Amino acid sequence: MSKTLSVAAIKDGTVIDHIPAGAAVIILQLLKLFPGKHRVSLGLNFNSTSMGFKDLIKIENRFLTEKEAHDIAAFAPHATINTIKNYKLVSKLSAKMPEEVARILVCPNLRCITNCQSADTLFHVEEHKNQVLLRCHFCEKIFERKEIKDYRP
Ligand SMILES: [Zn+2]
Repeated sequence: MSKTLSVAAIKDGTVIDHIPAGAAVIILQLLKLFPGKHRVSLGLNFNSTSMGFKDLIKIENRFLTEKEAHDIAAFAPHATINTIKNYKLVSKLSAKMPEEVARILVCPNLRCITNCQSADTLFHVEEHKNQVLLRCHFCEKIFERKEIKDYRP
């Protein structure tokens, strides 16, 4: 029994693994799974050798678009997205940080125009020494990813 088989115990669907503990709930909202019609199994605070603790989401009969995989990376930059068809792992993708994150994050700068006028947000993703930084397109302020926790549906 490989490690892969144990997470692949669904017939068709998607398993998102290596989600930082606590981020699974945001991803459920992001993918509009809750409330929703797809059967979802959620694992919270699993032990992970690489991460300490991790979350895991299994979604039956639902496959992710490239846009969704990018959006997930904004919250779980090291997530793996496993696509399962007929109990077999058909693809395993690492979430990749997109160059830009539109709409889903809220600018922590309260004086930013996106907060004053509730406009759509846009962040440019920059990586410095393995650290993900996000620069607000509007107020130009730069934030560490952990400073931005909000999600706007
Ligand atoms: Zn801003």
